[in-house]
Amino acid sequence: MFRIIFVCFVTTALAVLPGCGHRALTVTCIDVGQGDAVLVSFPNGKHWLIDAGGNPAGDTEAGIDPGHRNVLPVLRAKAIQSLDVVVMTHPDEDHVQGMLAVARHIPVGRVYWNGFEGSRTEQSVRAKFAQKGTTVEAVSVGSRTLVGDVEVAVMSPPLSPIMGTRSPENENSVVLLITYRDKSILLTGDVEAEGERELLRSAQAELNEISLLKVAHHGSDSSSTPEFVRRTHPGIAFVSCGKRNRYGHPSLDVIKRFERVGTQLYRTDQCGMLEWTSDGHSEAVTTMLPCNENALRGAQGVEN
Ligand SMILES: [Zn+2]
Repeated sequence: MFRIIFVCFVTTALAVLPGCGHRALTVTCIDVGQGDAVLVSFPNGKHWLIDAGGNPAGDTEAGIDPGHRNVLPVLRAKAIQSLDVVVMTHPDEDHVQGMLAVARHIPVGRVYWNGFEGSRTEQSVRAKFAQKGTTVEAVSVGSRTLVGDVEVAVMSPPLSPIMGTRSPENENSVVLLITYRDKSILLTGDVEAEGERELLRSAQAELNEISLLKVAHHGSDSSSTPEFVRRTHPGIAFVSCGKRNRYGHPSLDVIKRFERVGTQLYRTDQCGMLEWTSDGHSEAVTTMLPCNENALRGAQGVEN
């Protein structure tokens, strides 16, 4: 039977490493290949899962589906038996397909989604959760929740959805800003340039100087505009993308934009699963695979 063995490499440690103590906030970018799955473990023991990966080609076969292959084994390895909240940022397969496995195997307290009807997979995931009695709620900007002493604010989708762009599904992704003492984390789903502009317009100073950014849309050049990168000025950024993916993610232009502002960029295609931990003051990043400066640079990135 396949087992995940956590051999982690500490690549960044500022001040004191907070370790795995219960006062730490941990953000885990699960390696689901080309897709997104982010686990947030709060200091009070609650767990939120934001997306669960999926095959962009839409294959739901168990064993290939990243929900079975990647997400459930990580939850098991961390002894997480239930999730307090699940967020589906938007209906694309590479974010929601793995949720079917989660819905079948893990008790979930509440589901948030962006209210944007999309793929058939997304509809069946919502139906599966509803069938199990889980509350499924569409969220939009302005909703704020306290999880212990950590604040989670919904920054997107806007009250009036963004329409008329290349991908309204992406632009209206659920975006979460998580604040814990001195640290802030921005999880962006697949928002693109117009969604980022709307975020900067509505959020103002809240988005200046982010500690950890989950880079939007797998590092595509349609997101992470120079203005967004400059304003958010993240200390650390995670890119979730597949090895040699056919989209050429992450874009070399995007990598350079982050390099220009001094962001330390980590990629799941090169470093495997990524984990950021903080006690609200100091922070540390661990990677599943050894990840040195050379590996962090854009060996795969292409101009697009
Ligand atoms: Zn995506």
